[in-house]
Amino acid sequence: MPASALTILDEKLKRIHTLGSIDGLLGWDEQVNLPKESKDQRQNQKALMALLVHEANTDPEIAKLLAELEDSRDELAESEQVIVREKRRNYDRTVKLPAEFVERCTRTSSEAYHAWAKARANNDFKAFAPYIQKHIELCLESAGYLGWDDRPYDLMIDNHDPGMDASTIAALFSELKTDLLPILKQILDSPVKPDVSIFKGFPVKKQEAFLKDVTKSLGFNYERGRIDISLHPFCSGNGADIRMTTRFHEDNPLDSLFSSIHETGHGMYEQGLPIEYLHNALGQAAGMGVHESQSRLWENQVSRSKAFWKFYEPKFRETFKEQLQGISSEDLYLAINAVSRNPIRVDSDEVTYNLHIIIRFEIEKKLFAGELKVADLPEYWNAQYRELLGIPPKNDAEGVLQDIHWSYGSFGYFPSYCLGNMLAAQLWYAALEQLPGLESDFEKGDFSRLLTWLRENVHQHGKTYYLKELSEKATGQPLSPKSLIRYLKDRYLPLYQ
Ligand code: ZN
Repeated sequence: MPASALTILDEKLKRIHTLGSIDGLLGWDEQVNLPKESKDQRQNQKALMALLVHEANTDPEIAKLLAELEDSRDELAESEQVIVREKRRNYDRTVKLPAEFVERCTRTSSEAYHAWAKARANNDFKAFAPYIQKHIELCLESAGYLGWDDRPYDLMIDNHDPGMDASTIAALFSELKTDLLPILKQILDSPVKPDVSIFKGFPVKKQEAFLKDVTKSLGFNYERGRIDISLHPFCSGNGADIRMTTRFHEDNPLDSLFSSIHETGHGMYEQGLPIEYLHNALGQAAGMGVHESQSRLWENQVSRSKAFWKFYEPKFRETFKEQLQGISSEDLYLAINAVSRNPIRVDSDEVTYNLHIIIRFEIEKKLFAGELKVADLPEYWNAQYRELLGIPPKNDAEGVLQDIHWSYGSFGYFPSYCLGNMLAAQLWYAALEQLPGLESDFEKGDFSRLLTWLRENVHQHGKTYYLKELSEKATGQPLSPKSLIRYLKDRYLPLYQ
C-alpha cells in the first residue's frame, strides 16, 4: 500500500533532515564561534553526527520502502514521485559506497585540507600535489562503485548539478568564451579606469548596520536567520534557520556589502523553499547552479544596477559622510562596477569571473581524462591565465593553490558558478519582461515584486526540476550564455565607453 509506505518514508526523511541540520549547525558554529582549543572536541561531535546521518540514510528499511513505492509508481502523485526519485538517487549514492571507502575519503580530505593550507602559505605546490592525485583516484574509485566508470567527471558534475554533464558544459562555455573575450578587451582598452582606492577607513559598525538594512530590504527574513562574521563568507542552514556570514575590511566596504548580498540571495532561496517539505526533495534546492543563480542575481543584476544605487547612494553617503566626501556619483558607481585583470577568482569582477571558471573546468576535464598530469598543473594553469586573462599569477600560492575546493576533493563544483551566472541573467531578462517597471521599484527601495516572481518561478519547485528543465520552465529558454553576454554588454559597455 503506497500511502503508508510513503508516510513511513517521510518520517524517516524527517529524522535524516533533523540530524543533518544539527550537523550543519555544528559546522556553522565551528567557523563562527569556536574557541581555538575546542577543535578536537568539535571533530568528535561532527564525526558522530556524520555517522548517525550515514546510518539513517542507509537504513535497509528505506530500500524496501523505495522498492514498494517504485512498484506502485502509477498510484503516486507527481510530487510524490519526485520524493521517491530523489531519495532513490541519494540512497544509491550513499549505500553503494563501502564504509571503509567513505572513511578513507574523509581522512584524505582532512589531511589534504591541512596540506593545502600549509602548501599555500609556503607557496609549495609539490607538497600538495600528491593529495590532488589521491583525490582524483578516490573520485575514480567512487565512479566505479556507482557505475559511472566510463565517465567519472560527469559524475562529479552531476553530484553538484543533477542532469548536467561535461559535454553540455563544454559547449556552453565555448560559446561564452568566444563572445566574452571581445567584451573584456573593449572594457580593458577603454580610457575609463575605475579607482577602487577611493574607499578608506569605513568603520565596521557602520558597514554592518548598512548591509543589514540593505539585505533586509531585499527580502531576507531576519526572524528566520542571522548574519555573523567568518573568515570566508558562506550561507548554511535551511527552513526557519538560515545562517549567513560576511567579513569586514575598513578599506573595502564593498567586499562586506556584496558578499552579504550574495549570501542573502542564497538565504532567500532557502527561505523560499516550501518549509512543510523541508525534509524531502520538494523543499530542497535544485542544485548548486540554481543556488548560485539566486545569489548572483541579487548580487549583480540587482545590486550593481543604477536603479539600486539611485535609492541607496544617498543612504550610503549619509552613513559614510566623511569617507565619501569629494567622491562623485560617477566615480562611486564606476568603482562598484570595476572590471580589472585579477589572478584571484574570489576577488574578480563579474566579467572576468567566468574566465576563471572556464580555466578550472578545462583543467578538471583534462585531469579526469588523463590528458594532464598533476605535476604539470602549475605550468598549465599559468599558461591559461596568461592567455585568457592576460595576467599570469606571481606564484603558485596566487595561482593553482588559491582555491580550497580541490583540497576536499570537490571536483565538478566550479562549473556551477558559471552556470549560475547564465541562469541569473536569463531570469533577470524574463523578470524584466514579465514585470514592467521593475527597475523603478528598485529606485524606491522596493524589491518585493522580484522576490515574489522568484518564489513562484524558482523557489516553490524545490528539486522538482533540475537546472536545464528549470531554466526552460522559468525563462522559456534553454540554458545558454546569450542572456549573460547581453547583460554584460548592457551593463558594462556604456560605462566603459
Ligand atoms: Zn555562492
